[in-house]
Amino acid sequence: MSKHQFQTEVTQLLDLMIHSLYSNKEIFLRELISNSSDALDKLNYLTLTDDNYKNLEYKPKIDIAIDKGAKTLTLSDSGIGMNEEDLVENLGTIARSGTKSFVQNLSGDEKKDSSLIGQFGVGFYSAFMVANKIEVTSKKAGEDKAYTWSSEAGGDYEIVEATKDTHGTSIKLFLKDEEVEFLEYYRIESIIKKYSNHIPFGIWMDKEETIPAVTDDDGKETEPSKTEIKNIQVNKASALWRMNKSEIKKDEYKDFYKQISHDSTDPILWTHTKAEGTIEYNTLFYIPTTAPMDLFRMDYQPGVKLYVKRVFITDDEKELLPVYLRFVKGIIDAEDLPLNVSREILQQNIVLETIKKASVKKILSELKKLQTKDKEKYLEFYKTFGRVLKEGLYGDFENKEALLDLAMFKSSKREGLITLKEYKEAMKDEQKSIYYITGEEEAILRHSPLIEQFKAKDIEVLLLDEDVDSIIMPMVTEYDKTPIKPVNNSDIDEEIKEDKEEVKENEDKYQAILVKMKEILKDDAKDVKISSRLSDSPSVLIYDKNDPDFQMQQMLKQMGQDNLPTVKPILEINPKHEIFEKLLNKSDDLLLNDVSYLLMDQARLSEGMKIEDITGFAKRLNKIIAKAL
Ligand code: ADP
Repeated sequence: MSKHQFQTEVTQLLDLMIHSLYSNKEIFLRELISNSSDALDKLNYLTLTDDNYKNLEYKPKIDIAIDKGAKTLTLSDSGIGMNEEDLVENLGTIARSGTKSFVQNLSGDEKKDSSLIGQFGVGFYSAFMVANKIEVTSKKAGEDKAYTWSSEAGGDYEIVEATKDTHGTSIKLFLKDEEVEFLEYYRIESIIKKYSNHIPFGIWMDKEETIPAVTDDDGKETEPSKTEIKNIQVNKASALWRMNKSEIKKDEYKDFYKQISHDSTDPILWTHTKAEGTIEYNTLFYIPTTAPMDLFRMDYQPGVKLYVKRVFITDDEKELLPVYLRFVKGIIDAEDLPLNVSREILQQNIVLETIKKASVKKILSELKKLQTKDKEKYLEFYKTFGRVLKEGLYGDFENKEALLDLAMFKSSKREGLITLKEYKEAMKDEQKSIYYITGEEEAILRHSPLIEQFKAKDIEVLLLDEDVDSIIMPMVTEYDKTPIKPVNNSDIDEEIKEDKEEVKENEDKYQAILVKMKEILKDDAKDVKISSRLSDSPSVLIYDKNDPDFQMQQMLKQMGQDNLPTVKPILEINPKHEIFEKLLNKSDDLLLNDVSYLLMDQARLSEGMKIEDITGFAKRLNKIIAKAL
């Protein structure tokens, strides 16, 4: 016998599950059945592809047995099974990174934590909601020894050698006194029908049946009524995704989603395709309502399972859909793939590539439909997954227009989020481009000097305040034949600029000052120029057409590109601002020096940048204040 400690996160999770009032306890059965179904899937695949398993008896089946006397519920499968190492690894630690980081970040507020838990499955451990002791006896397919893992939650568990004739896993739950409802046949049957009706394997149970008394023609009883026990299959085991759409009810789609996703919330939408052309396949995709815990982790768990002719192949292949659709859950079942495809082949397989392409188009068009039909629901989706969806604009050129249509933006002129289509519809005839500004905070963007001239001319500007925007937007140069341009670009359209004559006049007027300021700021600014985009502010920073702007530079640094050359911005000054009018009449070089630095720092601040030399800034400011007083 060996005693083991649970990983800290497991103890925490168990604690939460046992002590917080969890309203939906019945899902434990769905989680255990889901594990058994996976174990059967894995063995099926091996018997078909691996010579070592060819002679193994594969009779896929899940059995559930109730013992009212002992108050136990036992779930057995003839799947792949676990050896001693597997038991320690799988039932003593938390493997899924998302779940693990969720547990690490538990708030300690029981109510909040347990409602969060409800949004995703916690797998095997959820059985401790209804049981105070669990015994797992398992024998790995192809191995001789069997083991029993047992635990009463707390901090530890035990493993002992056991005897078991056949491979697979048997899980015995010793139910808590207050959970004896799970000893009733009809209760279990209804849970199975609800969540697990369409897993591809049969679930079997003993059912007591009353056989009515037999009477003769005179009504005399010849045989008394009796009860008989019959072993029956409770679920349909029909692999939902291969059924005809017309045969499937809405609730069945929803429940199947919960079975495959471990998520207890209904999906926002689903799309079911049966393709019967040159390439035959079935796909069923779901868009969840809530984001999985690992959405922004590199090691996220992909949500799509690959089957070939109903045989499960993998649930660990990230290439089945593009990364920007990593929140999609579902199933791809292909007819024309060999079963033992290697990962390398999978990734370049033309059949799979075709299915992938069609699937992306389908999913995007379903989202489009939702956007048109039910904007509120779409916004809910977009708030949760928009940040991820937008990543597609960076790489998926084929679907760029579709993705641009789905993208939503904050605007300088309107509340809420708008689409590019809505932006275009509100554009004036003479406006040639779509304009946007990027930065970290909406409030800073709204008051940025960079959009003063746009406001003055009543031109709408899109406000992009997410970190990915500065990486993605340079890739987006056009929407529906209209150019898309950042407002801090030196190449802004003529329509925004004042007329050229006036700029020229001002350049001449301020010639001497410009030259001096350029010299003073030569370490900080690439150039100092007359601006025609400002109304109220005295100065602003812009970037050369081909230079990365501040946000982009920050992003590149965060991505580990440390030794980038520093790109200097251009300082533009507002010739109509009284500061410059007054400077014209002074010939105080020291004053000009201070003013130049102050204007530079001010422009930095309004862009959300930091001032590097704060002491210098304060000194200069105080000097000027003193002078003014
Ligand atoms: P998840 O199913 O999300 O991975 P669980 O905590 O439910 O998380 O299960 C952990 C692991 O234990 C599974 O990934 C699987 O490897 C193993 N496991 C659980 N139940 C079974 C079973 N019935 N047969 C074989 N392996 C199982």
